[in-house]
Amino acid sequence: MAKVRLEDIKRRFNNVTAIEDITFEIPDGEFWVLVGPSGCGKSTILRTIAGLETATSGKLFIGDELMNNVPARQRDVAMVFQNYALYPHMTVAQNIAFGLQMRKVDQRIVQERVVNVARSLSLEHLLDRKPKQLSGGQQQRVALGRAIAREPQVFLLDEPLSNLDAQLRDDTRAELKQLHQKLGITTVYVTHDQVEAMTLADKIVVLNRGRIQQIGDPQSIYASPANQMVATFLGSPPMNILPAIYKNDGFDVSGQLLAIPASLREKLHLRQGQSFDLGIRPEHIIINTDSALSTQPSALSTQHSALLVVEVKVVEPLGRETLIRAGLPGSTELLNIQVGGDVRLHPGDRISLQLDLHQLFVFDPKTGDRIS
Ligand code: ATP
Repeated sequence: MAKVRLEDIKRRFNNVTAIEDITFEIPDGEFWVLVGPSGCGKSTILRTIAGLETATSGKLFIGDELMNNVPARQRDVAMVFQNYALYPHMTVAQNIAFGLQMRKVDQRIVQERVVNVARSLSLEHLLDRKPKQLSGGQQQRVALGRAIAREPQVFLLDEPLSNLDAQLRDDTRAELKQLHQKLGITTVYVTHDQVEAMTLADKIVVLNRGRIQQIGDPQSIYASPANQMVATFLGSPPMNILPAIYKNDGFDVSGQLLAIPASLREKLHLRQGQSFDLGIRPEHIIINTDSALSTQPSALSTQHSALLVVEVKVVEPLGRETLIRAGLPGSTELLNIQVGGDVRLHPGDRISLQLDLHQLFVFDPKTGDRIS
């Protein structure tokens, strides 16, 4: 096992800067997830650690050793890709053993490792099968097994679950987590799936356009996103963004005035008339059960409450909770509202929403920076 440190890593492809300013240190044994939209540079970082890509500038350390000029095969890292290429003519046992045999490890140790790895991945009963006699999930577990058997210092995983169906993905994700708890190998995991990032990571690195947006543990990133990109990327359904103008000591949202706490007013007092993007997560909106709604929505927003009148467009019962999509008058944007249990609402109903102001984020609409 080893820590992994990247210092100001940059990679350019001709005129395209794929990644830059990439600096972080993964402590020995931790599970870090690189997450972000397609093209943000996740794979480039992973491939740079693996030695499959050469950094244009910056330093990479594994343990305390500078790795920039060390060839991939001497880095003692194991990488698993999304298209888990197994050797089709070999059995599961031979596939798992392959890397060890290439390194001329003693045959007895090879046998022992194959059995141990197969046991920890529930593959014991499949050792004599060929890849085409396995399901996708089983094949992916063999690919993981092949990497684990080498007992690398660092484990690199590039979207290893993306070819699996939903149920299998959930199961294999849980297995991966258990496996990491058992083996404690320093792991870097790439995904664009925010659920995988939230559930697997000790720390998440959120990337966008080749740059780090935020590094932190899943809960703190979710509760305190650094900017609008991070805020809307993590969370499902995503955070609602409401364009607003600051005026009359409140936010004007599509003609409705949202009263805000004094602390926020103080922060914004020189910014009357400016535009902002307000962020609120679906679970932080409460539907007012009082159905006696005013026909003049703005009258509902009093000094101390943040009320918003919307029209229900879609009601999606999900069992334990219901997802409501509702529109602000005169706007095509839909708000996601997540409420517990069943609700008796129908498309066309006008409802009033109460926004939890302690959970309201304010972003600069030009830069996406978080103001509050
Ligand atoms: P995805 O989730 O789609 O796999 P990613 O976040 O892993 O994306 P990268 O594959 O790291 O993104 O690519 C980052 C950027 O670098 C992209 O703009 C991509 O087009 C560019 N890029 C990657 N490899 C090359 C290459 N060999 N030549 C030119 N450009 C490249």
